Amino acid sequence: MFITPLSPTSPYAIQQYSGNPSVSNQKAHRQSLPTLTPQGTDEFSPRFSSEAQTAAVLPGSSAIKPLLGIFNPPEVKPYGRILGQYGGKSSGPLYIVVGGTHANELAGIKAFEQVLDELKTNNVAFDGKLVGLVGNLSGVNKNLGKAVPQRCEDRDLNRGWNTENIAKLKDAEKSGRLNTLNAEDTETLALLNQFEALKADHVQNNPKQPIYLLDMHTTSSAGAPQLLTSKPVWQLRDMPLPTFPKHHKVFNHMMYPYLQDKLGFNAMIVEAGQHKDKKSVKTAKAALWLAMELGGAVDKNSFDYKAEYQHLKSQTPPELLKVYDTKHLEKITDPTGFKPLLQSKANMVPVQPGQVVAKDGDRLLKIPESLTQPAYLLMMNRQHPQTIKKYDEAYTVAVATS
Ligand SMILES: [Zn+2]
Repeated sequence: MFITPLSPTSPYAIQQYSGNPSVSNQKAHRQSLPTLTPQGTDEFSPRFSSEAQTAAVLPGSSAIKPLLGIFNPPEVKPYGRILGQYGGKSSGPLYIVVGGTHANELAGIKAFEQVLDELKTNNVAFDGKLVGLVGNLSGVNKNLGKAVPQRCEDRDLNRGWNTENIAKLKDAEKSGRLNTLNAEDTETLALLNQFEALKADHVQNNPKQPIYLLDMHTTSSAGAPQLLTSKPVWQLRDMPLPTFPKHHKVFNHMMYPYLQDKLGFNAMIVEAGQHKDKKSVKTAKAALWLAMELGGAVDKNSFDYKAEYQHLKSQTPPELLKVYDTKHLEKITDPTGFKPLLQSKANMVPVQPGQVVAKDGDRLLKIPESLTQPAYLLMMNRQHPQTIKKYDEAYTVAVATS
């Protein structure tokens, strides 16, 4: 009998692991210590225990049991909110890395784990502190082992960061009505409380040192990585990423502008590449190393600066390494009738005013006629049709300013 090794894409894995890996008690995970040990060689393999993986591929082992209907699913280790931390012994900036804000985007989590491992292995001197967090903790844990991981449970966690909504969530917490909140409202509150606690601790010990927040994302389309930040702190030549300082103006209430405005963080999103491309982890890692060096936490000689810089720079064609103004956001009104029409599947594509770029049911979606500078279509939605919801973003359009 041929026995198929378990993999996240096997139909068997879908059937067996689609359940929630026991994350019902969110509070227990929020402050839990890191339990992470990357398993397997695939960057995006689910966190099955190594015994279970071994058993699954050995002929005559328990892998045969599922076929007989008496199989016990292997242990899946859920993430805790805090992935790990480093430094904190000498004064310097605080770096907060968030991975999995969108629950299907794990590159940032893997990148943080790998950088943390390298820092520890090489005992790298660190001025300040580095902390890694899981963004959508509940969503990420529910996705473990799923063939089609979901971006969120009830709503996009990278939206709803505005004064009114946050006040509503804080009020629900104060008056003991947490059970009335949906999944992402609960996550927003937990994350915000975590950010505030980290800031309070940092300010007490390092009142004059900045806080950097890197919210690590990936995209469904491939191509150049991007840096979204409402207040750029680094030059393009030092952090070689196409930079979008006005992106948040077309999107409603993303996390980073809120944290920039209300908590004074130097907050940014790094879009590190395509969801399942292993290179995305490398790109997120490179951005984190460069950020730590630029903020003065680590010395250029304490890691392979040249390799990290070269990797990051090499991910963007030279003609795209610019600062952009984001001008337009198009939304999907007919998820099952949405169809990208652009030949290129890259996440940044030069386009012409008036050009038809997608179909949204009966609507033909065009680049605004009014644009006069060189225009680029960003992040065409190429998600799995099952994961697209009404009013999800179809794409954005930006113009180059430098
Ligand atoms: Zn994302």
